[in-house]
Amino acid sequence: MNEKRVYKFGNGQAEGNAKMRNLLGGKGANLAEMNLLGVPVPPGFTITTDVCTEFYEIGRDKVVALLKDEVEEAIHFIEKLMNSKFGDVENPLLLSVRSGARASMPGMMDTILNLGLNDEAVEGLARKTNNPHFAWDSYRRFIQMYGDVVLGMKPVNKLDIDPFEAIIDQVKKESGVLMDQDLSVDDLKRLVKLFKATVKEHTGHDFPECAMEQLWGAICAVFGSWHNDRAILYRKMEGIPDEWGTAVTVMAMVFGNMGNTSATGVCFSRNAATGENVFNGEYLINAQGEDVVAGIRNPQQITIEDSKRWAVLAEVSEEERKAKYPSMEEVMPEMYKELYALQNKLEKHYRDMQDMEFTVQEGKLWFLQTRSGKRTGTAMVKIAMDMMHEGLIDEKTVLQRCDPQKLDELLHPVFDNKVMKDAKLLTTGLPASPGAASGQIVFNAEDAEAWQKNGHKVIMVRIETSPEDLAGMAAAEGILTSRGGMTSHAAVVARGMGKCCVSGAGALIIDYNKRTVKIEDVTLKEGDFISLNGSTGQVFQGEIETKAAEISGDFAELMKLCSKHTRLVVRTNADTPHDAKVARTFGAVGIGLCRTEHMFFEGEKIIAMREMILAEDKEGRKKALEKLLPYQTKDFYEILKAMDGLPVNIRLLDPPLHEFVPHDKKGQKEMAEAMGIELEQITARVASLSENNPMLGHRGCRLGNTYPEITEMQTKAIIGAAIQLRKEGFNPKPEIMVPLIGKHDEFDQQDDVIRATAAKMFEEEGVEPIEFKVGTMIEVPRAALTAGAVAERAEYFSFGTNDLTQLTFGYSRDDIASFLPAYLEKKILKVDPFQVLDQKGVGQLIEMAVARGRSVRPDLECGICGEHGGEPSSVKFCDKVGLNYVSCSPFRVPIARLAAAQGAIENS
Ligand code: PEP
Ligand code: MG
Repeated sequence: MNEKRVYKFGNGQAEGNAKMRNLLGGKGANLAEMNLLGVPVPPGFTITTDVCTEFYEIGRDKVVALLKDEVEEAIHFIEKLMNSKFGDVENPLLLSVRSGARASMPGMMDTILNLGLNDEAVEGLARKTNNPHFAWDSYRRFIQMYGDVVLGMKPVNKLDIDPFEAIIDQVKKESGVLMDQDLSVDDLKRLVKLFKATVKEHTGHDFPECAMEQLWGAICAVFGSWHNDRAILYRKMEGIPDEWGTAVTVMAMVFGNMGNTSATGVCFSRNAATGENVFNGEYLINAQGEDVVAGIRNPQQITIEDSKRWAVLAEVSEEERKAKYPSMEEVMPEMYKELYALQNKLEKHYRDMQDMEFTVQEGKLWFLQTRSGKRTGTAMVKIAMDMMHEGLIDEKTVLQRCDPQKLDELLHPVFDNKVMKDAKLLTTGLPASPGAASGQIVFNAEDAEAWQKNGHKVIMVRIETSPEDLAGMAAAEGILTSRGGMTSHAAVVARGMGKCCVSGAGALIIDYNKRTVKIEDVTLKEGDFISLNGSTGQVFQGEIETKAAEISGDFAELMKLCSKHTRLVVRTNADTPHDAKVARTFGAVGIGLCRTEHMFFEGEKIIAMREMILAEDKEGRKKALEKLLPYQTKDFYEILKAMDGLPVNIRLLDPPLHEFVPHDKKGQKEMAEAMGIELEQITARVASLSENNPMLGHRGCRLGNTYPEITEMQTKAIIGAAIQLRKEGFNPKPEIMVPLIGKHDEFDQQDDVIRATAAKMFEEEGVEPIEFKVGTMIEVPRAALTAGAVAERAEYFSFGTNDLTQLTFGYSRDDIASFLPAYLEKKILKVDPFQVLDQKGVGQLIEMAVARGRSVRPDLECGICGEHGGEPSSVKFCDKVGLNYVSCSPFRVPIARLAAAQGAIENS
């Protein structure tokens, strides 16, 4: 543990820098770096993330004792630079206390502003600034924030009333004032008095007057907020480890609420929704930072261009816009120029899109934060490719900068233009996060979650969202708000999640009690369908059809880069020609797993299939298999044709037979009639097929080994289809795969059947033999352990990591849900091993099997076809251990391609 717990920064110097984000959190590290770059930042200090860990280990009092000397020294440092004194009455230094983890978690943890005020200092501040309104406004904000965050007065439940908000409403009503900023000094004084009374009533104590006591309360509350519900949920969603902890940054306050030459805002060096290279952002004159992000007042645009665009959407005339909602570029041209230059400097320095917070205090610009901005998948790809073209980053950085999982958003459906002309447009809000979404209206986060659990697609409609709505936002297809701008929490978090979001749709009149939303003359209620276009901000009535996205432009270029840098290739798991075609357009270079059992489920096929299973003897089985042969041949013909010229790995029948037989009376009667036998015979056969443990029962190659005629039929169908295609001029490349072997004999005997059947067909048809491979799945630990013997005859291995995980852990893949949550909670497991490959255990088996297999057959081709084949960290592992390919579902192909390229870069 580092003995130094506090890192100071200010006046162009800093003890930390951008590389120290693990210790200082993103915010602390970047504040230090900005100082070193000469960007104006108020002086302050950062308490390290290690102290957060200590806070949870040794408790509050001991941590305060450990920090005391360093914190006091750092305060003196700020006092000197700010020429004021913390806790002083006449010339008080005020502080802000902010959280900042290693990874940014916008809005999830707590912030306290204006700390250091009390009944006397507020008077001193009023005298010093000659601005009593500002002083009292700051004081009432401080009590409210401190009450909410440190004293635990923030309502937990959405429907509970915030005691401070209730008082504000009451005072506004009594004074006949509509907006907070119109409250008079006397109103503000009254607020303070009532606020303090409610603090006493709720907590039993007077509001703390001592600045130092306030500071320790705030620092500890920020550490405490690391474990608030929304932070925990956010970490879970983003995969951020609990152990990281948050840093606390304490900074001198600068004030955006000192009158009309003061302002506060949030800006982005590029568009976080679309990725366009245009500086943008929002600001408010005479306000404090929280007003912008909390979506309480609708902020104004920073640039003239955005302001004009906004006015068109909001149906505000140019005269009104100029008078009431002018851009910062117009109102504070000098400040704007400086802001523009500094954001440019920061982007060039970090070589990434920056999300920045700033404050203008009486004509002086200060930066309060910079970080790499959250962005949509589209923006992620566009920004990376643009920056490469601009010469800011190289190809490898492009690939490493993009998050494979986020590509998923680019594959989401979009509204089908063909049906759009009939869609009824209700209103237009801000295009906060792109995508298309249709669903039923719900009005709060709890309902969104509950409805989604019951199988509904929902759109969460709210006046504004707050970080408490996180779980609801995750459950919804899209989010629609009547208030809040492009930088509101709703917008930022939605973009981070890749959720479609339209914000600030001012025409919405939402009534939470009646559960209705009125948009001009249309009133919609809970459960009604609504559709959002997050790319344009349009809101439509009813449900609108969507169509599949396609890969083009920057996305296509990124995929080309993947191919250039990758070592392993990506195939797809597909059982239908349609899926195969989709995957091919996404860049799959073959089928890594075609599960043939899925081909038997429909119509006539299932009857013939059941007949085969229910047959009493080989003769009966063969008769039924004859019926199945043409169906199978047609299926294989189509799938081989769709993947013409590319390998298609077809797996022989795998699941337990009893899964196919009818378990209800009606189905059994149908089979008795079809087969011309007694119902009792069917019932008895069904009963005899039932197993105690089907996953470990009569499945996989055990079927083919007990009934070789099944393998024979499937081989005939595969080879027959290939012969036909060859005759038609195609280039089929079949591979035949034997599932679930444990002993090499299980493979060898199936290999005999397959090769003999194929040879016979070529001879009977009188054609040149078609090249095909016979390989096996490695799904049973014994097969991995004895891979050398298996590879004597098997031409390729495909790791079936679903079964291999099941059999290595001994966790039933169908029953893990009953104990997984407890195991995750207790940290016995960090992740679900059926989703993320267990590299230490299952991975070791894979690595060993590859080595043993290749020691016998150096050109042994190895791939993976379990669910892990589309999960980025698992794909990178596959690259590391030298697999030739991964195979995953069609919509994960681009994700796997990017992960594979990243793996090649990281592992070489
Ligand atoms: C596997 O076990 O990983 C596999 C791909 O086969 P299935 O999921 O069909 O058992
Ligand atoms: Mg399997």
